[in-house]
Amino acid sequence: MPTSIVHRTASISKRVDKGKTCPACLRPLAQCICGTTVAFAPAVRILILQHPQERYKLLSSAMLAHLALKGSVLRVGLSWKNLAHALGEEADAEKWAVLFLKGIKEPSRKIEMFSPKNRLLPITSHFSGIIVIDGSWKQAKATWWRNPWLLKLNRITLNPDHPSLRGQSKRHGLATIEAIALALDCLGENVATGASLRKQYEELIVRPNAALVRRQSRVPARRRKFRGAAPASSPTPTVGRPISSPP
Ligand SMILES: [Zn+2]
Repeated sequence: MPTSIVHRTASISKRVDKGKTCPACLRPLAQCICGTTVAFAPAVRILILQHPQERYKLLSSAMLAHLALKGSVLRVGLSWKNLAHALGEEADAEKWAVLFLKGIKEPSRKIEMFSPKNRLLPITSHFSGIIVIDGSWKQAKATWWRNPWLLKLNRITLNPDHPSLRGQSKRHGLATIEAIALALDCLGENVATGASLRKQYEELIVRPNAALVRRQSRVPARRRKFRGAAPASSPTPTVGRPISSPP
């Protein structure tokens, strides 16, 4: 199991012991992604805060993103005292931003950045790390409110110009890994990184579970549970499905 994952609960051990789940990536053995991911090392660090109930979701992309992005950290839990606690090391909070989906003021833009006081920041702003909340909209909102230190961070909002590979309850909803890919694209990372993240998500998770994706896409949005995360802005998360996090 990746060392950045700190939780090994009884429920996980039970599934692993029964031989149904890979102990490292926590996916069904037939869909184990260990050793099959292509990893990249973006300049910006990625911290994924995953709601505990998301760990075994077949369409969850948080673990794949973690394995494919060197230096990333995946934390499973509900609350942390501050950024350093969540990250597991000291960090300058002023250089970090939380990712969320809503809040684009200029529709023609793919990305906008805001200060903690909601001031629009120049697109050239540099961040050393991005936080992405992985969970349903409801879960992401809960994570947001349980971690008031998130409100003191910069925020990044995304305006995807392409639909998610999986059904989303929100028009602009994205899977966590898709949101990370778009953010990296917009922040100037090599486009090959974002393209590969999307491709790996499609080939390793979406395609093997195509029937589930089709089934979920048929469920009316108001009845569908959200997963993904999204970050937020003012106090309301925005989570996309899997993206990350809330305000
Ligand atoms: Zn595995």
